[in-house]
This record gives sequence, C-alpha cells and structure tokens, in this order.
Amino acid sequence: MRHDNAQAWTPDEDNAILCMVEQFGKKWAKIAKSLAQSGRLRTPASVRNRFIRIKRGEQFREVRGKNRCAACGEIKLGHVCKARITR
Ligand SMILES: [Zn+2]
Repeated sequence: MRHDNAQAWTPDEDNAILCMVEQFGKKWAKIAKSLAQSGRLRTPASVRNRFIRIKRGEQFREVRGKNRCAACGEIKLGHVCKARITR
C-alpha cells in the first residue's frame, strides 16, 4: 500500500510541519528528519511542497491557533476532516 511518492499526508504531519516551521523556520531537512523519527519517510523536498500546499489552501488564515485544523482549515472542534478520510 506504499506508493513512495504518494503516501498520504496526515493531519498530524501537517500540524507538525506548521509547528516546526514556526519554531525553526523553513529548515526542510531538519523537519523531514523529525518526521522520520515518527516513522514517516519524507524528503526535505516533499516537506517543502507540502508546506506550500498547506499555505496555499489556507491562505495564511489563523493557522496558529490549535482550534483550526491544519489539514483543511476548518474549526477543529468535532469536525470530520476531509483530509483525514483520504488516509
Ligand atoms: Zn480537517
């Protein structure tokens, strides 16, 4: 079930990327390494691409609060995530 390139991104990963970019800046290698520690093999390039996609999708809306889903941008409380279903 593994398509190297097309492995779905989880909301947790999206959150982790956003958090780490805020903490460390756009250190893609560092962020990829950290994701790898939780068992996900991501390349720095794919992390970067994912980040760009997240930002594009959310148009820099309130990503900061934890009350918004980093995957789809909707209020997290009780929402059923469309991004999560693709997993
Ligand atoms: Zn969501």
